[in-house]
Amino acid sequence: MQIYKAPLRDMRFVLHELLDAKQLSKLPGYEEATADTIDTIIEEGAKFCQDKLLPLNRVGDEEGCTYENGVVRTPPGFKQAYNDFVGAGWQSISSDPNYGGQGLPALMNFVIEEMVCSTNIAFGVYPLLSRGAASLIERHGSDDIKETYLPHLADGSWSGTMCLTESQCGTDLGLIRTKAVPAGNGKYSISGSKIFISAGEHDLSENIIHLVLAKLPDAPEGVRGISLFLVPKLSVNGRGTAAEVGSRNGVACGSIEKKMGIHGSATCVINFDEAEGYLIGDPHKGLRCMFTMMNGARLGVGMQGLALGETAYQSATAYAKERRSGKSLTKGTKSADVADPIIVHPDVRNMLLTARAYNEGARALAYWTALQLDLSTHHPDAETRRDADEIVQLMTPVIKAFLTDRGFEAANLAVQVHGGHGYISEHGIEQLVRDARIAQLYEGTNGIQALDLVGRKLSLHTGRLLRHFFHPATEFVETNQETEELKDLVLPLAKALEKLQQATLVIAQKGLGDPEEAAAVATDYLKMFGLVAVGYMWLLMAEKAVAKAADANGDARFYANKLKTAQFYMHKLLPDASAAFLRIMTGKYAAAQFNEEDF
Ligand SMILES: Cc1cc2nc3c(=O)[nH]c(=O)nc-3n(C[C@H](O)[C@H](O)[C@H](O)COP(=O)(O)OP(=O)(O)OC[C@H]3O[C@@H](n4cnc5c(N)ncnc54)[C@H](O)[C@@H]3O)c2cc1C
Repeated sequence: MQIYKAPLRDMRFVLHELLDAKQLSKLPGYEEATADTIDTIIEEGAKFCQDKLLPLNRVGDEEGCTYENGVVRTPPGFKQAYNDFVGAGWQSISSDPNYGGQGLPALMNFVIEEMVCSTNIAFGVYPLLSRGAASLIERHGSDDIKETYLPHLADGSWSGTMCLTESQCGTDLGLIRTKAVPAGNGKYSISGSKIFISAGEHDLSENIIHLVLAKLPDAPEGVRGISLFLVPKLSVNGRGTAAEVGSRNGVACGSIEKKMGIHGSATCVINFDEAEGYLIGDPHKGLRCMFTMMNGARLGVGMQGLALGETAYQSATAYAKERRSGKSLTKGTKSADVADPIIVHPDVRNMLLTARAYNEGARALAYWTALQLDLSTHHPDAETRRDADEIVQLMTPVIKAFLTDRGFEAANLAVQVHGGHGYISEHGIEQLVRDARIAQLYEGTNGIQALDLVGRKLSLHTGRLLRHFFHPATEFVETNQETEELKDLVLPLAKALEKLQQATLVIAQKGLGDPEEAAAVATDYLKMFGLVAVGYMWLLMAEKAVAKAADANGDARFYANKLKTAQFYMHKLLPDASAAFLRIMTGKYAAAQFNEEDF
């Protein structure tokens, strides 16, 4: 059975003890983000997700979305849950207060996103896209567009989509064929067909605002010729809160996909037939604007990975404490029972702790990155804003790919802990695997994230992005190498960090002469980077746990477990970085020696 209780103690540890999140309340615009407000939000968010979204997770999977004559219906209960969600203001917590949002830190959204997706990832897709559409419009829309669309996206009466993919292209957007023709009055006529559009059509909101990539008649070839358009499903009359939906625009849903998981999320073919649209940003520069939405969505998808990893861990742990099989091999334990709970077995413990150590480390990395996101937008000092933004840029592909790979691994391990019962639909555990799988694919496959890290982020500003991470991590390691309580943890990380820096240099050197050398090891590099980045978070958490353990007042077990989990991470999981390092050193040779005909 899927089990989930929001890990509030761990969330508070990361938010308050590790990150001192209330520091955000000192930034202009974030005055309300006090420690009390943060706690109230996460507690209320937890209740909402546990009470309203978790009970709909199975029904969403089993009944899915339905399509009939262009109309898409979400699973039973989704509409009510959506109304409750937007009614309670969860949609708009970090949206612009000038347009109906609550203007709270993005960090809050990350925490809510985690809980929403732990309890119902398919439901979570709808608000994720609406928030992404809103942030794109906030950043790149004209005043007119902002006033007309943002208040409705903030109150959830309208929802958003991102329309990039076409049947002939997903990764290579330079190949898109959707056309935009100027139609006078600053409007454009959009025609073409998009596939795999999440939340492209549904019954949750009154209107759907599509953000569509298309090419103008004079567009240059490839990605340099892509423009971005806002295309509402129903045309809009008037402005601001007085804006009202009018007649049907030339937008229709052709069908929805049958798919492996996230059945409650409608994945649609959306056909544009001379639909009225509005240009966002400059002609031919649309991809750059779309990246605002894509980068936000990549972080959101990373949270989906962590979210499912958490539910997988909790469900597997509950099962491992109940299910009896075999006797404990621990010397001196002789229970009278014929069989012990499977949690006594080292192999089962290894599986549980793998998921747990990744989850807790990933949570720290994701929330830390979210804090940087808030600093990058609200800190008064320009250099601090720039540095924080560069950390977010560096970490975005790592969070997207590393967290979703680990989330899938945790879901898979949860099946393993359940034995054959994990494979049987009745228990709901196989759903976690099916749901987790998509996060490795959409928003740019994890292979593409690795290429982004290696091909773009490493060399940006002559390696300055990397230095934002390497410098503090190296300094921490050097300062604490002799710290008695930490050195057992610091040593493995110090070695892995040194190897990561070595690998970075090798890739930079080889990649200069032959880009294929860098591309061939990109996935290994991202994995190694993720392992080290999460390892650094574990060191920071261990340092806090050591400091707090002395006067823990009843919380001693929490801090002791933090330290034990840190040890598990450093000694059982971080060693994978050495294997990745060896693969990186091999370079492209092992695979490149095959000709296409050899496959
Ligand atoms: C359920 C679901 C929901 C989705 N939601 C949306 C949505 O809301 N909006 C939207 O626009 N799209 C959406 N997508 C599309 C999704 O983003 C794409 O499927 C994804 O980006 C991959 O594109 P593709 O399927 O065309 O694969 P391809 O681009 O054909 O890639 C196939 C394989 O080749 C690799 N590859 C491709 N190019 C390169 C390269 N240059 N270098 C190295 N490797 C490469 C890829 O990593 C992948 O392993 C969704 C997809 C699904 C399944």
